[in-house]
Amino acid sequence: MALLDIQNLRTYYYTGRGPVKAVEGVSFHVEKGEALGLAGESGCGKTTVALSLLRILPSGGKIVGGKIFFHNRDIVKISQNQMREDVRWKQMSYIFQGAMNAMNPVYKVGDQIIEAIRTHEPKVYTKEAKKRAGKLLELVGIDSSRVDNYPHEFSGGMKQRALIAMALACNPSLVIADEPGTALDVIVQAQFLKLLNELRHKLKLAIIMITHDLSMIAETCQTLAIMYAGNLVEYGDIVNLFKKPLHPYTQDLIESFPSIKAAKQDMVSIPGSPPDLLQPPSGCRFHPRCKYAMDICKKKTPRLIEIAKNHSVACHLVETQARK
Ligand code: SF4
Repeated sequence: MALLDIQNLRTYYYTGRGPVKAVEGVSFHVEKGEALGLAGESGCGKTTVALSLLRILPSGGKIVGGKIFFHNRDIVKISQNQMREDVRWKQMSYIFQGAMNAMNPVYKVGDQIIEAIRTHEPKVYTKEAKKRAGKLLELVGIDSSRVDNYPHEFSGGMKQRALIAMALACNPSLVIADEPGTALDVIVQAQFLKLLNELRHKLKLAIIMITHDLSMIAETCQTLAIMYAGNLVEYGDIVNLFKKPLHPYTQDLIESFPSIKAAKQDMVSIPGSPPDLLQPPSGCRFHPRCKYAMDICKKKTPRLIEIAKNHSVACHLVETQARK
């Protein structure tokens, strides 16, 4: 069985106006040492999938269906105490969004790593935790003497590295990086991706990289999952998806990224805007924006079906063409 196997996950946010169906029927898996990119426009449910995995949804958020098998057990069913004691940080951790301000400015960097260690491993003494914090900083290329520095004494790249060190504090097998490129310049981003790749090989880490930036995923991941309005619309081997995207939304998403090799051209954008998930469109949620929409698209939700080896798509048009 895969390290992580998500089956038909459904997560809603309950509001005064009704449930926001943020994640609806998402399924994918991640193997040990594999990097998966989770992409889509803002508000498509990527971060909600991550928060569901760690079971740290904000108030009103609830997993209403599906299974999350991690290390062969369904972590949807276990208690919050078990999540804290066995899963969070020890097996699965999170690199928070926004490296520049994700750390508490009034605590030393080392103390924040020590806190992560001692929260999840209370039997570890502070002295031992400090030694580990220094080693973790070394692992991400920062001198261990910097444990006593405050976040403002670190550059943006060093802060991002320190966040990785914090995520690795208790030797997890899966790390979720949420929009790790935010507010970093391209050179620091490239260094970050290189480091993440090295750590993946060295520690056999599985990684879920959440971003709307497909170029970051192309640099790092072996598998790509595209989400639209809470649904998984295309999923599979990254080379297949980039070479031959089949879902109209994936095609538009890839086209809307400028190519540094192609001739200069006007930016392409996807017409319309993502739907209100309080009242998502019927059938295929992309149909109001899809240039290929047919009658059936408005009535019936397309199933995610395997079109080729390691390549699955949820689209009536692709399904019909595959049957011919
Ligand atoms: Fe477009 Fe229909 Fe496919 Fe949805 S199911 S992406 S509306 S063709």
